[in-house]
This record gives sequence, C-alpha cells and structure tokens, in this order.
Amino acid sequence: MKRTPLVIAEYLQQQQAKHLYRKPRITTSAQQPEMVVDGVPLLTFCSNDYLGLANHPELIKAFQYAANQYGVGSGSAHLVSGHNIEHQKLEESLAEFTGRERALMFSTGYMANVGAIAAFAGKGETIYQDRLNHASLIDGGRLSDAKMWRYHHNDMQDLARRMNKGGDDCSMIITDGVFSMDGDCADAAALARLAKQHKSWLMVDDAHGFGCLGKQGGGLVEALGLSSDDVPLLMATLGKAVGSSGAFVAGDHDVIEYLIQSARSYIFTTAIPPAVAAASRKGLELIQTESWRREKLAKNIQQFKQGAAGLGLPMMSSDTAIQPIMVGSSDVAMRYSQQLLTHGILVTAIRPPTVPNGEARLRVTLSAAHTASQIEQLLVALESLNMTQKPEYAIKER
Ligand code: PMP
Repeated sequence: MKRTPLVIAEYLQQQQAKHLYRKPRITTSAQQPEMVVDGVPLLTFCSNDYLGLANHPELIKAFQYAANQYGVGSGSAHLVSGHNIEHQKLEESLAEFTGRERALMFSTGYMANVGAIAAFAGKGETIYQDRLNHASLIDGGRLSDAKMWRYHHNDMQDLARRMNKGGDDCSMIITDGVFSMDGDCADAAALARLAKQHKSWLMVDDAHGFGCLGKQGGGLVEALGLSSDDVPLLMATLGKAVGSSGAFVAGDHDVIEYLIQSARSYIFTTAIPPAVAAASRKGLELIQTESWRREKLAKNIQQFKQGAAGLGLPMMSSDTAIQPIMVGSSDVAMRYSQQLLTHGILVTAIRPPTVPNGEARLRVTLSAAHTASQIEQLLVALESLNMTQKPEYAIKER
C-alpha cells in the first residue's frame, strides 16, 4: 500500500488503539538506578548498563582526555581518515580479551550485525537463525540475499532437521548469546557442533552476555568454555556492560580483513568519536579488574529471582540480568508499567513486534549498581500490582 499522508495518519491512530505506539522518554540525568525521566525522579530497572559503568568517573575521565586530545568528531570513515589511535588500541584490547587474533569496531551493534551477515552470506546460500534472535540479526539476514530459516527457539533438533534437509548450502548459523527479551542462553556448544558438521560459520551475538557472564567477563563463550574455533564470529556491543557505545566483531586475521574489505556498514559510515573508544577501553579494563561487579550483579539477580518466585510472579526461566515478567496482552503490560510509575519505578513494557504477539512483558533488567533495598522496593511495588499467577499468554511454538 502506498504510504500517503492519510495512510500514515491512520497507521499512527491504529498503533495507539492497539497500545503499540512508541515514544521516547527524555532523561535529564546520567544512567544510574535513580534517574530523572520526563522530569520525574524514578528508580529504573530497564537499562542495559549491567555493571554500572556508564557513569563511572574513570570512563568519564578517559572520554574527556581523549576529547581534549582528538576533538569530538572522527571526521570520516575508518578507511578514510577516521581510524584514530584510540580505535586501534581498543581493537587490540578487544582481540586480546576475547582470545582472538583480531577485532573490528562498528559504530553500533545493529551495524555490526547487518554488516557481518551480509558480508558472510549471499545468494544461493542459507542462513539459520533462532526465531528469537535480535532484530538486527534478522535484518542482516534479509539484507544478505541468502535464504533464511528461523528455527524454533533453542531447539537443536529442529535446527538439525532443517539443516539436513537444506543440504550443503548452509553458510551461517546465527544466534543471540543471551536472548535479549527472554534472558535465557543459547546452546552455543551444540550450535558449534552443528556448524562444524555442516562446514558453516557460527556467529554469536553476545550483546547481553559480554562483561556479565564467565569468570573474566568474557561472556557466554567463556562461560561455556568455547574456543574461537567453535565460535569463529563473535559479536558483542559496547553500549551495555562496557558502559559506552559501539560494537565489535572478533575473529581470526582473515575474518577481520575480509570484513574490512566487504562489510558495508563498516566501510560506508563515520567512525565513532575517538573519545567513545577511549571510554570503552577503560570499561573493558574495569570489567577485568573489578570482578566484584559481576558478583554483585549475580547477587542482585538472585535476590530478585527469589523475591519474584515468592510472589508467584509469572517469570521466564532466566538466570541473567534480563528478568522478564510475562503478561500477555500489550494493554495490560502498559497498564502495569504505568502503575509501577505511580510507585516511582520505571520498568518498560515490551510489546510486539519486539516480542511475538500475545507475549507482551515487563522486562526487568538488573545492574550491579542496584542496591538490595532498591530491589526490595521493586518487589514491594510488583506485589501491589496483584499480577495473576497464570498469565494470559500462552507461549506458542517458537
Ligand atoms: N544485538 C542484541 C542482542 C541487542 O540486544 C542489541 C540492542 N540492544 C543489538 C544487537 C544492537 O546493538 P546497538 O544498540 O549497539 O545497536
């Protein structure tokens, strides 16, 4: 249908009627549990700043130092004159930290995913993606011209069956490490075996595991003891646990050289400011030296999970910082979110198309920066909502 002004106006009205309208909130404070949002002080449980580094004085200092040295804008793409020594040093640190030969920065995680997938898969090939993969991975598949199969969530039998049917044309298996809306983890070891069997690439997007999982914070691959041979394409973002912004893909020398030559979202875009790279490097350093942040996060997750179980809340099975409370319909999820606001708490309602129809939820995210009493405050507010123990949603075959 042609998007005439009338069609657009009708669409906007419909989105509102379906409780699917989206609107950014304006924050006037730094990322931290207590924030001012649309002019109102709120206790927040929706940020991805899992380790509480986004507002850390050391990151700010690194950012300021690099801004003084190199200015604000990077001026151009990496391959023109935008690749600053700060980008270079960050890539080297990321390679060393992830135990890979090389790492390549992208301006955002979205761009890393679309760029890498479209570079590694093409016409006549097939990509296999978990149904619940992040939108940027799905969009990368669409952009690639390859055929795309979305296997049932974390269902290795379904994937194996589909791959056997597909024959030799599989170019990639792609998965979230920690699923961004459910909080559960991929069976990356089984995926690695299947990928090797079919001589295809395995790409893991560990945006929500990097920094949080594994003894050193190396993410899901570290937690599962997987090598670069198992996961040749490792992607993670810098805007979550690292406390900064941007993303990277880590892999062997040729993988990275290939991306430099062919990932369009790397080639045709302005490099992120060098100061952001400098702050990211400091965040990466703190991930390694301040393991107490991961321990605190784990403690907070435990406290919330125990409290939520005690209240009989309809939780998903997740041990990560992402703790979704399943609601079902979008209007009810919106109503609960509004009610929490009256308790001074911000938890966002996640609705379709971010999650499947009928699976709207409150996505609680925890951070090492939350205190025990703040988590208690959330639990008290959730109790007052009288949420039904039996959510109206029914998870369909995924
Ligand atoms: N992958 C996953 C799993 C994500 O959750 C996100 C964003 N939250 C991205 C990629 C995109 O990262 P970015 O925000 O840096 O574009």
